[in-house]
Amino acid sequence: MISKVKDCFNASNEEFSDWNWQYRHRITTVEELEKLIPLSEPEKEDIRKALEVFPMAISPYYASLIDPEDPGCPIRMQAVPLLAELQKSSWELEDPLCEDSDSPSEESCITHRYPDRVLFLISNRCGMYCRHCTRKRRVGNREYDYSEKVIREGIEYVREHPEVRDVLLSGGDALLVSDERLDWLLRELFDIPHVEIVRIGTRAPVTLPQRITPELCEILGKYPSVWLNTHFNHPKEITPEAKKAMNMLSRAGIPLGNQSVLLRGVNDCPTIIKKLCHELLRIKTRPYYLYQCDLSFGLEHFRTSVARGIEIIEMLRGHTSGLAVPTFVVDAPGGGGKIPVGPNYLISNSDNGVTLRNYEGVICMYSEPAEYSAVCPQKCSICDKHPGLKSDTGLAKLYDEENDIISLEPEGLERKLRF
Ligand SMILES: *Cc1c(COP(=O)(O)O)cnc(C)c1O
Ligand code: SF4
Repeated sequence: MISKVKDCFNASNEEFSDWNWQYRHRITTVEELEKLIPLSEPEKEDIRKALEVFPMAISPYYASLIDPEDPGCPIRMQAVPLLAELQKSSWELEDPLCEDSDSPSEESCITHRYPDRVLFLISNRCGMYCRHCTRKRRVGNREYDYSEKVIREGIEYVREHPEVRDVLLSGGDALLVSDERLDWLLRELFDIPHVEIVRIGTRAPVTLPQRITPELCEILGKYPSVWLNTHFNHPKEITPEAKKAMNMLSRAGIPLGNQSVLLRGVNDCPTIIKKLCHELLRIKTRPYYLYQCDLSFGLEHFRTSVARGIEIIEMLRGHTSGLAVPTFVVDAPGGGGKIPVGPNYLISNSDNGVTLRNYEGVICMYSEPAEYSAVCPQKCSICDKHPGLKSDTGLAKLYDEENDIISLEPEGLERKLRF
């Protein structure tokens, strides 16, 4: 398909490997798309309707990975709209993760949900608009472009919150800002003494691998601890171009991770996910999360059962390298954050031990030590030196001996209000 795409755009090899060229030539209309893949009249009509809600933009490179003969091609399904996107179900939400309500203000680019880290949105652009995007309401929508002023306010927020040690740059795609802006932002953030790491969330290695240039790698490699998470969903996406991009990043010393979304008809199969995770390890990329599809508008046709995700983990853990096993998470509707779910390995426990099972079905008993009570090692001074390390959120409250709380209760319990 790649030569067809190049011909269609009349692109030289040099142009095709330039990310600005790729970005400028993204396929955004039905007319452009039908030059590359056969589309029936009803299909075209459906795509036009779907485009009224969420734009299409496919980099020529990503489009070149589509199998034009296969309507169920996993690349195509992530890139080309379907009428099903317009279907609204009562449980679908515009902002299912409540990212807006965990923000300091409406215009802010910060979501501060967890105690010690923030999500910092810096761009509204992407190499491709994924049909399964959870931030559909923002991505590609001009209203949400992040001005320098908003980004400066984000930096100030981090500066004023000493508990924030980890900043996740995302968007849109965090690599779709200029090298200069990224360099400036990283410098500002690492100038803040309490910022220990900065994570970059980007799908560029997958949809626009040309974005990974030697200049970019030099910038990312300059700072003490930049991590990068990308978003491969299918082994077909790990092409020579993608491998080259990831290799350049790892040579620059950037630790690499991957976050996949479980998508019906795309990758909801243990064999596909296993192959994907094996291929990721070969490009020095650690499978980090596998996400259950969110309850955003128009994603119903992509959603699988949670059970399928658990089954996939069951088929990985023990069967293959532990490094190849991501954590399967459901991002809780209502802003509860990521909740890990997986198979149960703990069968039971008795006074003297726990009963466990392994991936083969072997059941074993692990005897607990006869006498054990956790004691704080006398000479350790970590707590004194770093009081912030001690968590007082959730169950940590129950476990804290200095606290006499014995239960956690939701607000407004009916029986408490009764008398
Ligand atoms: C996912 C996420 C994070 C980071 O979570 P980790 O589990 O540390 O990777 C931080 N903030 C928000 C709002 C998130 O959605
Ligand atoms: S790259 Fe990420 S933010 Fe952009 S459309 Fe895809 S999933 Fe959404």
